[in-house]
Amino acid sequence: MSVNVTEIFGSNVFSTNVMRERLPKKVFQEVMHVMEHGGNISMATADIVANAMKDWAVEKGATHYTHWFQPLTGITAEKHDAFITCPEDNKVLLQLTGKQLIMGESDASSFPSGGLRSTHYARGYTAWDMTSPAFVKEMSAGTILCIPTIFVSYHGEALDKKTPLLRSMQALNTQAIRILRLFGNTEAQKVFPCVGAEQEYFLVDRDYYMQRRDLIYTGRTLFGAPAPKGQELEDQYFGVIRERVGAFMSDLNQELWKLGIPATTQHNEVAPSQHEMAPIYTMCNLAVDQNQLTMETMKRVATRHGLVCLLHEKPYAGVNGSGKHNNWSIGTDTGENLLDPGDTPNENLQFLLVLSCIMKAVDKHADLLRQSAACVGNEHRLGGQEAPPAIISIFLGDQLEHVVNQIVSNADSIKLLASGKLDSGVSTVPLLSRDATDRNRTTPFAFTGNKFEFRMVGSSDSIADANTTLNAIVAEAMCDAADYLEQAEDFDSACLQLIHDNMAQHQRIIFNGNGYSDEWVREAARRGLPNLPSLVDTVPALVTDKAVELFTKFGIYTKVELEARAEIMYETYIKVIKIEANTMIHMAAKHYIPAIITYTTRLAQSITAVAQACPETDLSVQKKLLNSVSDYLSQASYALEQLKPLMDRVDSIEDLKEMALTYRRAVVPAMDALRYPIDVLELMVDKEVWPVPTYGDLMFEV
Ligand code: ADP
Ligand code: MG
Repeated sequence: MSVNVTEIFGSNVFSTNVMRERLPKKVFQEVMHVMEHGGNISMATADIVANAMKDWAVEKGATHYTHWFQPLTGITAEKHDAFITCPEDNKVLLQLTGKQLIMGESDASSFPSGGLRSTHYARGYTAWDMTSPAFVKEMSAGTILCIPTIFVSYHGEALDKKTPLLRSMQALNTQAIRILRLFGNTEAQKVFPCVGAEQEYFLVDRDYYMQRRDLIYTGRTLFGAPAPKGQELEDQYFGVIRERVGAFMSDLNQELWKLGIPATTQHNEVAPSQHEMAPIYTMCNLAVDQNQLTMETMKRVATRHGLVCLLHEKPYAGVNGSGKHNNWSIGTDTGENLLDPGDTPNENLQFLLVLSCIMKAVDKHADLLRQSAACVGNEHRLGGQEAPPAIISIFLGDQLEHVVNQIVSNADSIKLLASGKLDSGVSTVPLLSRDATDRNRTTPFAFTGNKFEFRMVGSSDSIADANTTLNAIVAEAMCDAADYLEQAEDFDSACLQLIHDNMAQHQRIIFNGNGYSDEWVREAARRGLPNLPSLVDTVPALVTDKAVELFTKFGIYTKVELEARAEIMYETYIKVIKIEANTMIHMAAKHYIPAIITYTTRLAQSITAVAQACPETDLSVQKKLLNSVSDYLSQASYALEQLKPLMDRVDSIEDLKEMALTYRRAVVPAMDALRYPIDVLELMVDKEVWPVPTYGDLMFEV
């Protein structure tokens, strides 16, 4: 089937081009102005835009519109309203008013609010985010016009992930512009973070999926012995894509292209039935929207192919889990990338200052950055022997690390740089080849030529939090730098000094070695770097004095908003673990134990029958198996009996944080204790009686 990519790309987006064609010139200009500079459009303008948007959407087959927003659940929310007006004489008109476009009111009480709601009103308001284009989504529920919005409480507190993200972009814009001005750049009017999120996922056959309650309820397997083959042959990564998976990918690409999402790269990942999709990077807030849409579209398209897309960070024990590499850089409206080392001394100096600010930001707020990638599924990934460790460090690559070492140890070498002696070797930033920068896969925050790659984010998680934090911490370091440099009498020498000081003070965050090793854990502790293995360990980072100071200084979060987020994280952790534990109880009691009893009963009966019929038969193997299976069965049964009362005890703890910590400390090990004997039994018991598809079925029959 041939696809005309240029024709379908963006065809479902109410883009600038569509607006230019369909809006009166003055209205278009007003909209563009607000999109670029902020502010509000008039109600008269809103009416005209809304009507044009509705006409466009109806031509695409749309029947409904929705305010599309990103509540603190981490997924997107939408409520569809038909365009129809009150029928008159059995006739309806299709309508979208300016008011409906720019503002919506919704009951916030069913979304997580972390206490923001109870102190105020239950109402939440959605407001059109003009920085993201509207689009139509084709679903079985109909074709829906989606209007991207922010979601706030009556008093304006952010109830979503988008509002703080936009605030953080504003902060970075303001501070980065100050830095650019110091370097004599008067042209750039706007600076924005650019993000490209590589999305990993697993595919599983839908019939098998439907037989696994754990996949259905929790998105991951809670039981399962390893298949005879895993990823050890390394034959999956970049391997030939199987037909069914290829058909899914092709379909996915087309759906994404229609939504204006520049899906480009597709390949098999390390684990069996694991894959990746990467789009071309774009402006941060748009990248966040696009990633949400990508995840949603992956799930929808998979069902058309008899598949289910698993976005969980660790669907299967024993093989790699899925993450999201968040590629991040800082761009200007004049096409400059502040993370590009450049090739003139002036560009070099600006790059080194920006780099030194990022080192300072990441070192000072390593705990917050780690927190920004905390989601329950990521527990199984970070710190395991696969994804980055739970300790934040920066990888610069040999060449750049050498430059930093020189600057830190030798204040003179950097002076050469200012005088422009480019041939002085280490004192300038070498032209970095990509190969030299991107070979350490064990690091959570890697410089890859002209961007940083934050590899901690979970595959199911929104990338909003990670980018909000990144933007905020770098804005703060740039603000400190600008405060100092704007007062300096001799800019060049002050700048050199500042680069030196930032790098010297924060060099401990740089690590080039093997991030999976125990040595690094010890070394990081010696350096004083935080090691926060679990989500529950990361939550306090949100409400430290330094976090509150950072986020309130730039108006990104209020203290109350931060406290609310901390509360939601604990709550979510408890809820997810509780669902997992309950699912285990369900599966053990209703699937596994009955099946194992059937098996042992049958085995015992056949031993008795054979013993009676032919008393001289050697039944030692059968008896040994029966004894062994019975032992593990009683182990499983014992673990099952322990788990439920334990959860009841933990649930009676009043303090939310304490409850979350106890879930982690006591319930998670009790779940492991139940899993262990059942996984052993899976390898002993006849496949005929085994009640669910195995890892081999799930991973190799896609
Ligand atoms: P990798 O080696 O990590 O696969 P790629 O070149 O494939 O690197 O890029 C991965 C992602 O990084 C893509 O989504 C790409 O668009 C994005 N990317 C490339 N350059 C930048 C940049 N300057 N800023 C942000 N993201 C970028
Ligand atoms: Mg990558």
